[in-house]
Amino acid sequence: MQGRNRELLQIDYDHIDVLGFEVNESFVHGVVCDLKGAVKMSFSEPVQDKRPQAIAESIKVILDQIRQNEAKTANIIGIGLSISGIVAPTEQKVIHSGTMGWENIHVNDLFPPLGDMMIIVENDANAALLGEVWVANIQDDEDVVYIVISEGAIGASLLVDGQLVRGSTMVAGEISHFPVEPNGKSCMCGNSGCFETYVSLERLEKEFAELSTGNMKLIEAYKAGDELAQQFVIQAAHKMATVIRSIIYLVNPGRIIIGGLWIEAGEEFLNLVLQQVKKHFSLGERHIPQFAYSKLHPHAGVLGAVGLVIDEFLKYQ
Ligand SMILES: [Zn+2]
Repeated sequence: MQGRNRELLQIDYDHIDVLGFEVNESFVHGVVCDLKGAVKMSFSEPVQDKRPQAIAESIKVILDQIRQNEAKTANIIGIGLSISGIVAPTEQKVIHSGTMGWENIHVNDLFPPLGDMMIIVENDANAALLGEVWVANIQDDEDVVYIVISEGAIGASLLVDGQLVRGSTMVAGEISHFPVEPNGKSCMCGNSGCFETYVSLERLEKEFAELSTGNMKLIEAYKAGDELAQQFVIQAAHKMATVIRSIIYLVNPGRIIIGGLWIEAGEEFLNLVLQQVKKHFSLGERHIPQFAYSKLHPHAGVLGAVGLVIDEFLKYQ
């Protein structure tokens, strides 16, 4: 990854494009990008059926749409795929995706035969972090942690000394079941007090709808000053701060980026989390990292997937 931007300045491959795909529980998103990461075309298919064969069908529909716009695309050199779950990029496999209900799915199960086209698969949080680094001008030797909270899936990605930290069995950053409350809310994993039970918007929306007398969704109600929504959001901010403090103690990153659906809660929510991090952090404020929402939301994952292909391509130039 080192020096990628510098190399791009010297190479003008305007006849080359890259495809990026992001698959999650709600949609399949596909983009055509040039080598500088600028999106030339974007397509989306809603997910009604999460099985690999149904997702493969949606990917095929998007590939057909891209083919129909062939005149606007240059020579496509590869495809990047970003997906929630435990991913083994070197084996081109999704080992486990709780969000999608997948086990050991190979990229060949998702894409039609494409000859010797390069296909790179990466975990969504890792891809999103790389997207931030590559497109949003973050120094690639910075220690950065990216936390993504989408509807069902929660994950973190760690970039240390310019390298992704995957862990010895590829589960570094799987923070969904990080314990944040002794004897807390029961989790589908069988434990109680897991992080996701306090911050998963899918779960919180259901709990909020059961208790609320209005018909607004949680974040909307929070922004409108609804008292019950405030309680839910403040609790989520406190639990997020607990996890972030632990991450700071363990990794000491220079920057923490929050991606995913909580961005909709706005700067007020981010400040709530930051205040709570500072309030209970023992080592002094100078160790608190820079703190911001993803600048690429909602395209960080797909742009990161594109960046992976570009990076691989540039290695051989
Ligand atoms: Zn759990």
